[in-house]
Amino acid sequence: MCKRLKNKVAVITAAGRGIGKGIALKLSQEGANVIIVDLDVETAKTVSEEIEKSGVKSLFVKADVSNAGEVREMVDYTMREFGRIDILVNNAGINKPAFILDVTEEIWDLTMKVNLKSIFLCSKAVIPFMMEQKNGKIINISSISGKKGGTWLSPYCTSKFGVIGFTQSIARELAPFGINVNAVCPGIVFTPLWDDLAKVFSKKLHLPPEKVKEYYIDRIPLKRPAEVEDVANLVAFLCSDEASYITGQAINADGGEVM
Ligand code: NAP
Repeated sequence: MCKRLKNKVAVITAAGRGIGKGIALKLSQEGANVIIVDLDVETAKTVSEEIEKSGVKSLFVKADVSNAGEVREMVDYTMREFGRIDILVNNAGINKPAFILDVTEEIWDLTMKVNLKSIFLCSKAVIPFMMEQKNGKIINISSISGKKGGTWLSPYCTSKFGVIGFTQSIARELAPFGINVNAVCPGIVFTPLWDDLAKVFSKKLHLPPEKVKEYYIDRIPLKRPAEVEDVANLVAFLCSDEASYITGQAINADGGEVM
């Protein structure tokens, strides 16, 4: 197989599990050396070790990507070890659904911090190196909740719409430097993030928890949830030279749910 990302260096946030892990595995299969960033150092280490077995290099870093100091240390460490960063995938995200009157200031601030501020901080930290290289790819994981509002999702949707606004703005600013910036908008992927969501949505929908997933699948034209690979395949394409003419876009991987 022709490896589209051979020798590239990719930083992936929140890659210890779920979609981030799927993206890390896919980019490494395409030949990239990957830096696994996560709050949970044990899961990050496990993913990194799994990836090293496939012959590429991998590092793991414990960092809260909503903390400027920790982001700076993570990027400095990567630069010391690899000397360059070609790809940044901003994947960290949380979802705390609630009716608007039950959304506390704490939930609101935390959602903006993890889903939006982290993307600003990580991008700002790697952009100078990409500008110097005159080359780079930044992929921001938004959501179909970044394209349409959702009941009990006001903080999450606000943050994910924000991710697309940030993507479009810096795509324009960085185009002269050979840096492509795009967003990917997954539909439903049954990762650990959904363990809590299914419980909360069962109250919202007045359905037993085991029926919640069925309810959401039924709304998808392709009648199945996304697998992490469906999202990872799109990210890998956007990171490759095949996507060099694509920037400032927010592309859905959602089985046709939003069109
Ligand atoms: P997940 O299974 O909950 O995984 C999220 C990961 O993020 C966890 O490993 C978590 O670490 C890590 N994390 C959380 N806050 C962090 C922080 N401040 N710094 C560093 N790492 C942090 O979530 P997922 O479903 O894979 O979602 C990944 C992304 O896709 C998110 O941006 C999400 O909004 C987006 N998305 C998901 C879906 C879906 O249906 N799953 C749909 C559309 C978009 P800990 O385990 O230590 O907490």
